[in-house]
Formats: sequence, structure tokens, C-alpha cells
Amino acid sequence: MDLYLGIDYGTSGARGVVIDEQGKIQTEVRYSGQKLEAPHWKSTLWSLLAEIPEPLRREIRAIAINGTSSTVLLCDGAGEPVAAPLLYNDGRGAVVLEQLKKVAPPNHTVLSATSSLAKLLWMSQQSFFSEARYFLHQADWLAFLLHGQLGISDYHNALKLGYDVEALEYPEWLEKLEIPIQLPKVLAPGTPIREIRPDIASQFGLPKDCLVCAGTTDSIAAFIASGAESPGEAVTSLGSTLVLKLLSHTRIEDARYGIYSHRFGDLWLTGGASNTGGAVLREFFTNAELESLSQEIDPAKVSNLDYYPLLKAGDRFPINDPNLPPRLTPRPAAPREFLHGLLESMARIEARGYELLQNLGANQVTRVYTAGGGATNSTWNAIRQRHLKVPVVASENTEAAYGTALLAKAKASNHKDAKKFT
Ligand code: ADP
Repeated sequence: MDLYLGIDYGTSGARGVVIDEQGKIQTEVRYSGQKLEAPHWKSTLWSLLAEIPEPLRREIRAIAINGTSSTVLLCDGAGEPVAAPLLYNDGRGAVVLEQLKKVAPPNHTVLSATSSLAKLLWMSQQSFFSEARYFLHQADWLAFLLHGQLGISDYHNALKLGYDVEALEYPEWLEKLEIPIQLPKVLAPGTPIREIRPDIASQFGLPKDCLVCAGTTDSIAAFIASGAESPGEAVTSLGSTLVLKLLSHTRIEDARYGIYSHRFGDLWLTGGASNTGGAVLREFFTNAELESLSQEIDPAKVSNLDYYPLLKAGDRFPINDPNLPPRLTPRPAAPREFLHGLLESMARIEARGYELLQNLGANQVTRVYTAGGGATNSTWNAIRQRHLKVPVVASENTEAAYGTALLAKAKASNHKDAKKFT
């Protein structure tokens, strides 16, 4: 049997999924417990591998890893981190933004305090920088632990480092920063890098010729897992926030709305994120209440309550207004009616989001897959379908680790899917 392992380092833990040639899951392993922090990345990786039943480990042909986007670190010539990694949401890069604005094109995705490039520039001004030889993303470093070659990344992770994913090279303006560091060589996600280190192979009983592949980011891995694959297919994530992703022939970039595109094979994966979403529902209802009250709502009936549900003022997509006030009134006495208004209003915001992407040139939406905590709510899905006017379906799988396993399979097996995804 030929098996493929995808490993996901997300915001709340690490998971591994082993699939077969048909994409069927053979086993799932997870690391839960204390919060996932840098010193634990390495030991977590070994724990995950050890948890996979031995007979399956012997059949693993390829491994790929996804990390959280913009979680980055510096390491020395031997691959040892020279300082604690900066996690995805670390905003210390804010102090270098003015400097970055002088070289990066206006509205570029790197012009954010949490971008990989802002983090690198900030790190380059710290005392520990003198010991650093390589700058890597979380997924790059973890893959290095398996294959042993430093300085390799993929163009999903490298987007927020400023890598030009259209020309497939680092842009000239980046050189003007004159940061004395080895930037990673960038490969297409899923590309086999090299065989696993012999000592790791024998320690874990993996095949000597098991390939370690270039990785991706956690949100793109979740997109791959959904089953969406054609232009016009989209994935909405109904988690704490509302995140839209749409496969398109056209690349869309509009920093005003926080919209940017990842390269995805011959296509572009474009999207935006609104601050509305499940976090607002959680403010008013428990999950049990959401479930029972939703069952009492007739989704065919339109609620005329017109809210803009936010926890605090400000949204970027689909309305770009840092002062946009939350709108949650009038509030009816019946909780069911209030919830109906919230679900209906979020569905309007979602539809407006896809409309904005289309108005900016993205493909017409044909089908919307759904992931996240709200995806199980069939009432909400029916309301959303009424607004979106296209089929709304559940994602085939919502685990990033599963998407990353598909990525490893597509490239390493030279599968018919090899041209997809990346
Ligand atoms: P995160 O983005 O934090 O990973 P999840 O994908 O785990 O979020 O989703 C959690 C959110 O899902 C919560 O904010 C919760 O309000 C929402 N949620 C949970 N159950 C339901 C439901 N039945 N209907 C709508 N929303 C729900």
C-alpha cells in the first residue's frame, strides 16, 4: 500500500493524517495538551510520528507539513533556532513598517505588522541576528528536521515574505532592504525536496526513500481538504470570524479590503476576511442554544433585522471602515428572532463579500463549501443558500492535515492531481 502523511501545525495544536492512494484516511494522530509553542515543535513532531501505528509508517511514501502563515524563525548554519520564533499574530513588526513602506510597493501584503517580512526586518535589528544564517517559516523548519536541507520554502508560505508568486522570484525592491540573511529557495507547494534523513527513517521505521515535500499554510491546506478545485468554487469558513476563499482565473489584490491572492496551480486563490462571525454568536448564545434555537427558525422566511454583527467597531472586508460600528439593534424579545436576524445578516455580509470579489474581477461563484463551527448549522446553510443563490455544501473534509496529505500525494505520486493545488 502507498500512504501519504500530512502534518498540520495550527493555532491550537498539531495533527497528522495518513491517507491512501484513494484519499481514504488510514489513521489520524494529534497532539493536544499544553499550548503549542516553539520549544515543543520538534518534540511534537517526533511524538506525532511515533503515534502512527508501525505497520502504516512502513508504507509512507511522502510527507508534507503545513504551518501557520507568517510564523517564522531564524536559525544558524546547523539549523538551530537562534531566538524564539515569532508567531503568526506577533505584532512587533509594527515598528519597522515605516521603513518597509519606503521600499515595498504601495498596499503590498508585506505592509502589515504581522507579515513575515516585517518580522524579518524587526529581527534583523536585534542583537541575536548576528548568529543567524537562515530565515525560515515554521513549515520550512519542521520539514528541514525531516529532510536535513536548510533554506527551502514554498510559495504559499513565502507570499507574505514578499516573494513574487507570479514571476517566481524575489523582487528587486526586497534587495534594497539589504538584510544579510539567506532567504529560502522557494518551490511549488508539494514539490518533493529529498528523501527523509536516514537516521529519522530508521528511528521511526519509515521507508528509506520516503519523500519530504515542500509544505503550505494552514488555511490553504484546509481549502485543499474541502474538495473545492474548479474556478468559481469557494470555501466559507464560519469560525470565530467569517473567511471567504474563491478559486479564480484572475489574481485579485486590493489592500483596502485586505484582499490578496495565493497562486494555486494555474489558478488564483483569492479571498478576504470579515470580523463578523461565530465570536459574535458566542457572545449571546451557547453552542447548545445555537443548535436548538436554529431548529425553530424557518430558513425560507426572510428576517428583516438588518445587523452588522461585530464585537467591536471596525471591519475591512467587505466594508472597509476601521470605525464601522457594530449594529445589533433593534433586539427583539424572542431569542429565536434575534438569532434569525444575526444569521440572516451574516449571510448578507457573506454574499456581499463574494459580490465584491466578483466585482473586482474574480470568477462567478458556482458552489460554496463550508467549514468551521457554524458549518453544521443546516438552518444557516439554507439561509445562506437563499442569499448566495448557488449550492451551499459541507466541505468534504475540514482538517488542514488532510489537505496537506492530499498535497503530498498529488506531487509525490505523480498523481493526476499533481497540477492541481499549487
Ligand atoms: P475558530 O475560528 O475559533 O477555530 P471554530 O471553527 O471552532 O472557530 O468555530 C467556533 C464558532 O462556531 C463559535 O464562535 C461558535 O459561536 C460557532 N458555532 C458553534 N456551533 C454553532 C452552530 N450550531 N451554529 C452557528 N454557529 C456555531
